[in-house]
Amino acid sequence: MRLIPLLITLFISGSIFGQPFSLPELSHPYDAYGVIDSKTMEIHHSKHHQGYVNKLNKAVLKEGLEKKALVDLMLYASYRSKAVRNNAGGHYNHTLFWELLNPSKVKASDEQVLKTQKSKLYKEILNQYGSLDNLKMELNKAAATRFGSGWAWLVVTPEKKLAVTSSPNQDNPIMDVSEVRGIPVLGIDVWEHAYYLKYQNKRGDYLSAIWSILDWSVVANKYNLALTDPLLKTIEKEHWPELMHFHKVLAQTFHPAEKGNYNPIRDRSGELFAKAILLNTSAIPKPLLSPDISLALIKLEKQCGSLDKCIRKNAKDKIVSKKIVLVHDTFHEIQGMCHDNK
Ligand code: MN
Repeated sequence: MRLIPLLITLFISGSIFGQPFSLPELSHPYDAYGVIDSKTMEIHHSKHHQGYVNKLNKAVLKEGLEKKALVDLMLYASYRSKAVRNNAGGHYNHTLFWELLNPSKVKASDEQVLKTQKSKLYKEILNQYGSLDNLKMELNKAAATRFGSGWAWLVVTPEKKLAVTSSPNQDNPIMDVSEVRGIPVLGIDVWEHAYYLKYQNKRGDYLSAIWSILDWSVVANKYNLALTDPLLKTIEKEHWPELMHFHKVLAQTFHPAEKGNYNPIRDRSGELFAKAILLNTSAIPKPLLSPDISLALIKLEKQCGSLDKCIRKNAKDKIVSKKIVLVHDTFHEIQGMCHDNK
């Protein structure tokens, strides 16, 4: 007799059709959120978030990424399509946001709530920000000054510190495109769709109001989990902006060359060489340090120098092709030492 409810659940969640991701339930009915009106909650959850889930499912199935965990789709955002990056972020960010909103949270002050938690979060907040109010002000500032659509974040960094940051669109600090990296423990949606019906253009009023339903006991739990999450080590290992910058120029020049268009690499071989020099002199992320990776970086710089030199001497396409393939091979050698699970 228990089979029927199970089948209904599977049907609703979409897993019976092999959809990798599904919309999470809210903890409260749409009309229970007080400072956020019912219509906004309904559209935000059942239309916007559902939309990210649908588009994410479609994109991962199309791109053969349906076996990847959500976190892996985000970690390597710079290597993903726009559809995967935006919708994986959209799904993750909103799932976190809903968990934080609790209109029936206990009536005590947020400080009291944090003090009674089995968590070092409150101590760390006092340590780094002086008071919870100061931290809220920092978060409001990050949210208010984020131009256009995006999110404000409180994250645990690989150094196990707290950091306040913001990101555009549906990006987040797990992604390799983010300047500040870490595991989010609190996120505030500052897209207009999160507040426009009730607050119109007054983002500041929405930001003041949101604290009355934001549950710090959830943040404290997330903080405890983040501190021991292996993802934190992975982020530390993956946070290498100079590699990302090199990769960007290589991708924009190598792929056209593969198709016989050598103009981009002829225009930008000097830039590619410069990025290789910066990469070779950059701080290698601690978990990656090895003689092999240092040697590969030296090789990459030499190969880029040689490619640039031959282009400046107007070498034939055939020679340019050979040299850029060598650069590409070495880059993948380095990348292979960085990523286990891409
Ligand atoms: Mn949203």
